[in-house]
Amino acid sequence: MGRVIAVANQKGGVGKTTTAINLAASFAAAEVNTLLIDCDPQSNASSGLGFVKDPERVSTYHLLLGEASGDQALATTDLEQLWLIPAHKNLIGANLELVEAERREYRLRDAIAPLRDRFSYIVLDCPPALDLLTVNALVAADSVLIPMQAEYFALEGISELLDTVERIRAALNPGLEIEGVVLTMLDERTNLAQQVMAELKKYFGEKLCAATIPRNIRLAEAPSHGKAALVYDPRSKGAESYIRLAKEIIERQAPAVSSQPSEQTLTTEDTGEHRGEQGVEEIPAAADEMDKSA
Ligand code: ATP
Ligand code: MG
Repeated sequence: MGRVIAVANQKGGVGKTTTAINLAASFAAAEVNTLLIDCDPQSNASSGLGFVKDPERVSTYHLLLGEASGDQALATTDLEQLWLIPAHKNLIGANLELVEAERREYRLRDAIAPLRDRFSYIVLDCPPALDLLTVNALVAADSVLIPMQAEYFALEGISELLDTVERIRAALNPGLEIEGVVLTMLDERTNLAQQVMAELKKYFGEKLCAATIPRNIRLAEAPSHGKAALVYDPRSKGAESYIRLAKEIIERQAPAVSSQPSEQTLTTEDTGEHRGEQGVEEIPAAADEMDKSA
């Protein structure tokens, strides 16, 4: 079964979408089949991968309302092992339309259940709110990755999210873990960043990711070219930092192989085998169908 990681923080502009796109692309570049699902009506993860706005295209909205299957929603991307389920601003409607619906918090979980064994990683990009869309993502997820900026009141902002995770764990998804906290747009040279990092380390311990994401212009430019940073400029500091984050997450999940030389954990044989991928050859076919109908 693939691991489902929700990238969430109700605070706006902290680097959720940049993290979701570039982490998913880095998993795919490590040669494991990866699916990115855009769960935000702003659709930045979709446009950031070059998908133009198209209300007719099968998207997360159709998935949540049960109007399309996961298979029908899969779209191929520039990267061979990365697929996307795009969003459109009509997703705002799902928030309202689902209020009265049966199993409204489980819609995404149910919809992606048939896809899980085909992907090693499924990354969910959440909106900047603790709304029904984010709840759906947290109920569908195995873990939540929290992007955060190294600001003075960083911890205060995060408590509401941690409370929500706790409530979802108690009522809807007992298996939900904290994947980690990743520092974004970091300028390590400043005293403030150092202080905040020390504080977060004390609070989150091992959960604070060792990989940090620097402020890097390439990460900001790449979406306007419809590309992940590692396609737009593979040698940029930004692209490299997300590759390190992906590697850290892969290695954390595969303790059995971590005693081997670390480079090997990123090869197809290792990660594929340890995740027991099945039926991966069906995905390109489904995605081709998708292209034809688009
Ligand atoms: P929202 O809450 O609106 O969904 P978000 O949390 O998804 O926002 P992003 O869209 O990823 O945040 O980032 C906000 C802005 O900061 C974007 O313009 C993005 O290009 C830029 N940005 C993100 N990370 C970096 C970085 N490491 N270096 C430079 N710019 C960055
Ligand atoms: Mg976003």
